Amino acid sequence: RRKWKRVVSVLKELEEACETPVGRLRQVVDAMAVEMHAGLASEGGSKLKMLLTFVDHLPTGSEIGTYYALDLGGTNFRVLRIQLGGRRSSILSQDVERQPIPQHLLTSTSEDLFDFIASTLKQFVEKEESGSEPSPVRTRELGFTFSFPVKQSSLRSGILIKWTKGFAIEDMVGKEVVTLLEAALVRSGLDMRVALLVNDTVGTLALGRYHDADTVAAVIIGTGTNACYLERADAIIKCQGLLTSSGYMVVNMEWGNFWSSHLPRTSYDIDLDSESPNPNDQGFEKMISGMYLGDIVRRVILRISLESDIFGPVSSRLSIPFILQTPLLAAMHEDHSPELKEVAKILKETLEVDGLHARPATPLVGILKKIGRDGSGGITGGRNRSDVKMKRTVVAIEGGLYTSYTMFREYLHEALNEILGDVAQHVSLQVTEDGSGIGGALLAASYSSYS
Ligand code: ADP
Repeated sequence: RRKWKRVVSVLKELEEACETPVGRLRQVVDAMAVEMHAGLASEGGSKLKMLLTFVDHLPTGSEIGTYYALDLGGTNFRVLRIQLGGRRSSILSQDVERQPIPQHLLTSTSEDLFDFIASTLKQFVEKEESGSEPSPVRTRELGFTFSFPVKQSSLRSGILIKWTKGFAIEDMVGKEVVTLLEAALVRSGLDMRVALLVNDTVGTLALGRYHDADTVAAVIIGTGTNACYLERADAIIKCQGLLTSSGYMVVNMEWGNFWSSHLPRTSYDIDLDSESPNPNDQGFEKMISGMYLGDIVRRVILRISLESDIFGPVSSRLSIPFILQTPLLAAMHEDHSPELKEVAKILKETLEVDGLHARPATPLVGILKKIGRDGSGGITGGRNRSDVKMKRTVVAIEGGLYTSYTMFREYLHEALNEILGDVAQHVSLQVTEDGSGIGGALLAASYSSYS
C-alpha cells in the first residue's frame, strides 16, 4: 500500500512539473518571440542564433530543367537529380542514390571525404545521363545541403563552425565548405557548379513553397529539431543595410538551442542535460526531440522502480542511457489494448522489468502525455509571428517524430488550436518528404545562372 503511494506521488510530481495550461504555453510563445528579436538584433544576442541563409527567393514553380543536389547531414549522404516541368508541383522525375560514408572517412581529411563524395556524384551523373539525349551545352548545377553548423557570408560561402554527429575532420573546421567541394569536383573532372549551400530546414521550406505559395516556415522534428522562416530583411538588424531582391530572407533559427525559464522543465530533463556530453546546449531539443524523449521516460521508470517494488527488483538495464528508444516509447504510448500488452512486452524485453507486475501500473501510460506538452511548446513557439492574422499560413513539416508518432502529432495539433484559437483555421501544417535533398535541388534551380 505504501509503495503505491510513492508511485502515485512520483507521478503527481511529474504531472505538475509538466503541466501546460494555455497561459503557460503563451508565456513560452512570448519568450520565443523575444529571443527571436534578440537573435536578429545582434550577433550572440540570444541562444537562438537566427542564422542568415542569403536565400531571398524561393521556388515559384516556373523552374525548368535538370538539377542536382548533394545532401550531407549524417553518416549517409545522398545524391539526387530532379527534372522540373515549369509548373507548380511539376517534378517530372526524381532519382536518388544513398551512400553510407565509410567509417574511416569520418575522421580522415577533407580531401579524402570530398574526393569520395565527388567520385560517387560523378558515377551517379554518368549513370543517369547514359542513354538519355546529350544535354545542351551548359554546366550542371547543384544545391549542396550541408546539415552542420555553418556561418554563411553569402549564398555560396560559409565556414564550418564545428562538426557534430560523429564527424571529426579537423582540417575542415573554419574552412569554406563550397570551396572544398568545388576543388574535389575539379579533381574528379566533373563539370558541375555549386549553386548554393543549404541547411536542411531551408530545403524543407523550398519544397513546401514549390507545392504551395503560402508556405512561409519549415519545421523539422526528427532525431533533432530545428526551424526556419521567411523574415523581412529590414527586421534583421544585426546585418545593417542588408539588400535582398525580394525584401525578405530565410532565417535559420537553430531553435534546438532555444531556452526559457517558462519551459516546463522537470528534474528528469535537468539530469539528462547535465549527464549529456554538451550540458546547457540544445536545451529545447533535449526536451522534445526523438533522440531524447525515450531517455526521459527511462529516467521516470527508473525512479519509480527505485522507490517502489511495483516492477520487482530494479533491473540493471534501466540504468543504461538511451536503452529505451523513442519509437518504443511511442509504441507503449499508443498501446490502447485493455491489458497494455505492448507496454508489458517492451518493459520486459527492452528494460527487463517485470511486465506482469507493471500491468496494473496503468498510470505509467498517463505520464507519457509529457511528450505532448513538450511538442506543443515547440511548434507554437515557432508560430508566434505577428502577421499570421487572417492570411492563410502554411508551415512545411518533416521528421520521423512528427510523421510516425501519431499521439505526438495529435498533442501538437491540439496545443496549436488551443493557443491560436480562431486563427488556427488559417494555419496549416503540410508534411513534405525529403525536403533536405529535393529542396536543395529546387533551390539550385531557383538560383540557376541560366535563368
Ligand atoms: P533524422 O531526424 O535523423 O534526419 P527522421 O526525420 O526520419 O530522421 O527522424 C528519425 C527520428 O524520428 C528517430 O530518431 C526517432 O527518434 C523518431 N521516430 C521515428 N519513428 C518513430 C516512431 N514510430 N515513433 C516515435 N518516434 C519515431
